[in-house]
Amino acid sequence: MERLINMFGYAGKILFIDLSNHIINTIPTEKYAKDFLGGRGIATKIAYDIIPPDANAFDPENALIMMTGPLTGIAPSSSRIDVVSLSPLTNLLGGSSAGGDFGAALKFAGYDGIVITGKSKEPTCIRIIDDEITFHDAEACWEYDVYDTVDCVKKLGREDVQVACIGKAGANLVKTAGISFSKRNLAARGGLGAVMGSKNLKAIAVAGTKGVKIKDTNKLMKVNFEIQRRIKESPSFKKYENWHANISLSLLKARRPYFGDYEEEFWEEAEEAAKNAKKFFEEKASLRPSSCFSCPLRCWAWVEYKGEEAPMVACQGTFPAIIFILKIKDPELAWKVYLKLQREGMDIMSTVAIIAYASRLGLVKLGSEDVLNLIDKIINREGPGNILAEGIKRASEHFGVPAVYVKGGMESWSSDIRPFRGVALAGAVSESGSISRAIHGFPASSYYTKPEKAKKVAKEIVGDESAAEPTNYKGKAKLVAYFENEHIIADSLGVCDTPMLSVPLELWAESFTAATGIEMSPEKLHFYAEKIRTLERMFNVRRGVNREKDTLSPRLFESVIHSGPWKGVKLDREKFEEMKDEYYMLRGWNENGIPTEETLKKYGLEW
Ligand code: SF4
Repeated sequence: MERLINMFGYAGKILFIDLSNHIINTIPTEKYAKDFLGGRGIATKIAYDIIPPDANAFDPENALIMMTGPLTGIAPSSSRIDVVSLSPLTNLLGGSSAGGDFGAALKFAGYDGIVITGKSKEPTCIRIIDDEITFHDAEACWEYDVYDTVDCVKKLGREDVQVACIGKAGANLVKTAGISFSKRNLAARGGLGAVMGSKNLKAIAVAGTKGVKIKDTNKLMKVNFEIQRRIKESPSFKKYENWHANISLSLLKARRPYFGDYEEEFWEEAEEAAKNAKKFFEEKASLRPSSCFSCPLRCWAWVEYKGEEAPMVACQGTFPAIIFILKIKDPELAWKVYLKLQREGMDIMSTVAIIAYASRLGLVKLGSEDVLNLIDKIINREGPGNILAEGIKRASEHFGVPAVYVKGGMESWSSDIRPFRGVALAGAVSESGSISRAIHGFPASSYYTKPEKAKKVAKEIVGDESAAEPTNYKGKAKLVAYFENEHIIADSLGVCDTPMLSVPLELWAESFTAATGIEMSPEKLHFYAEKIRTLERMFNVRRGVNREKDTLSPRLFESVIHSGPWKGVKLDREKFEEMKDEYYMLRGWNENGIPTEETLKKYGLEW
């Protein structure tokens, strides 16, 4: 117990709450930290240990795990909290992370993470104020959207709480519902908001006053100052200084093939729609740039129009996806769609893909107010909305019309992944199916906006700059494995990936050492990442995942892009399988995609 109290960098304990019986427990973080670092690593280990291999996502036995990292709250850009559970979309390991202030608040309350199991009999809200943990009736706000839920929870007595909550979509078990953090940040992917809904848990509110014990405060401040300086000098910082220029850049991605349903012709009006939206942001909406806890980047802004506001990340593809996939030329309509999805805390990428699919079934007219009506039907599970709320794969099985999806039935990326071989590989091998959780978009988006930089990175990692070329299959497996590792390191330390990638890994390792007193290096961080990646794989192997399951929907291999800049491009199945072979070899898995005994031994995972 003494060692637990003196644990540096970490809060020292993890909160376990059994909602079926309202039993509260804590266990020492120390039990997991040495072997699994924090955040995504510890969350995955707990998921592996306590979620039965035959459980379904909505079973009370499923666990909803929210975990901070050792740097959360004590380093620059250290806002992250990682959420892990069984995904109702795939019934495999689901995961998503979010920024904001919730993670830091949880740590300052004295907890590195929360593990929720069981199912409450009634709609409930958990309030954590340091050591005081209370349950509150959430019946009255059960159908509220996330904005109204946050306001309602704050009225429980503390205005300063940070709130993780679901909207009506999560309460109705819509499988593309995310978990919203204080109206701003969303753990969007994998339907984890529906898992929260299945537990009758509307919200978790947290406020803390405890701080975190630091091993070497002077050293930590020095290293953090240097990290902050490097972030501020990075191209990313300069990029985010001008929010308008950034949204314009995102909108210019209209040149990328945004095909929600992957069957349409290239939308010739995309450039005009992009110009309309750019004008909307420059002349009609007002902006309030903001950032997450301790982040100098300020990558997002509160956008306000006609008295309503929503957070928007400048370079994120969500608003462009609404415009280009749903073919909305009127930016005010696109704004209404965006606001609705934000207010409901829904995964925008998944939802727009589902709506685009529904348009092929004749269920919605794209570019019209009809889109808003269909979103309401999905949220309320009315008529066809009830089927669409199950996700694109199940909808396609129901309607008998093929759809596009990636691993396990997860909706794909906002742009057509056929020309982007690395993205396609990541979508197939990622355990959660979430491409953005796997590789941060590289090398797809990087190549598009900065080809010279992408080539340089490819040369460094693969030894061949041609590996950065999107349609090239060669070298992609190594790039995917490398960027998966970097992403896992960020998610496990509790640092946001964009700023993390802007600063040498050595400095993050030094920050960890100063905070915890435990020696760390970039090599050790990569070793942790490989170990955590192997554990994620083992979680899914136990649930039947193998080479055959590491795939994409057949349409991605069968159909050729009809028009636009990538006309004639398709995914070659044979070359795709060769990328998998190389990826498995790099990961130490056999030809069937199962980690070998030697690999398990190397990472100490041979239980
Ligand atoms: S880069 Fe953006 S999302 Fe990441 S921590 Fe900073 S403000 Fe938040």
